[in-house]
Amino acid sequence: MGINKENFERIISELQSTGTTLVAVSKTKPVTDIEELYKQGQKDFGENYVQELTEKLPQLPPDIRWHFLGHLQRNKVKYIAPFIHLIHGVDSENLLKEIDKQGRKFNRVIDCLLQVHIAREETKFGFNADELQDLVTKINKGSLVLKNVNIRGLMGMASFTNDTFQIRSEFSYLAGLYQSLQPSFPDFSVLSMGMSADYSLAIECGSTLVRIGSLLFGARG
Ligand SMILES: *Cc1c(COP(=O)(O)O)cnc(C)c1O
Repeated sequence: MGINKENFERIISELQSTGTTLVAVSKTKPVTDIEELYKQGQKDFGENYVQELTEKLPQLPPDIRWHFLGHLQRNKVKYIAPFIHLIHGVDSENLLKEIDKQGRKFNRVIDCLLQVHIAREETKFGFNADELQDLVTKINKGSLVLKNVNIRGLMGMASFTNDTFQIRSEFSYLAGLYQSLQPSFPDFSVLSMGMSADYSLAIECGSTLVRIGSLLFGARG
């Protein structure tokens, strides 16, 4: 337990030159660790589980910006809608509609990233390029209206591999998609890619936000 201050300082200085945002991923870690990093000046924290997040929330400073990173079930959106700063893993139109509905209920416009499936591993989560294009078309035609959602960018996770050539090609692909979609959304400025193992590569490929857990808080059990 306890945070790794040397890694934190090294990462912060690494991110400075490119203006990349650091989200400290605190899932499964105690609130005491979050407090410790907060005292070092860190304000953006990311969690993957709704219940864990809502339990930690009242125990921590109110100016923390909470990011939701994991797969979000529609029936749980209501619990985070009042306070969440950015939802990274939006992977379906139905989830967007639910976030919009809850945003309206709490009188907020909720910032979201669309998750893109870029890794080789099979997963149900994330849009592919065609699905993203369909979504843009619907929004442009007005057949999908999301007044209480602001789509701010894209999020992706590279394959779980040591093959840096593979990782680089996945990140570059995502960065290309991000650039091609930018004209379609007024506030598109966040490309969330890179974790402890691959954040430097992600920054080289154009990431604007990295999500780092184990380098800051130690390995998860
Ligand atoms: C857990 C997690 C991270 C952080 O992973 P580390 O390898 O510990 O840095 C980043 N992004 C997502 C979506 C995660 O689930």
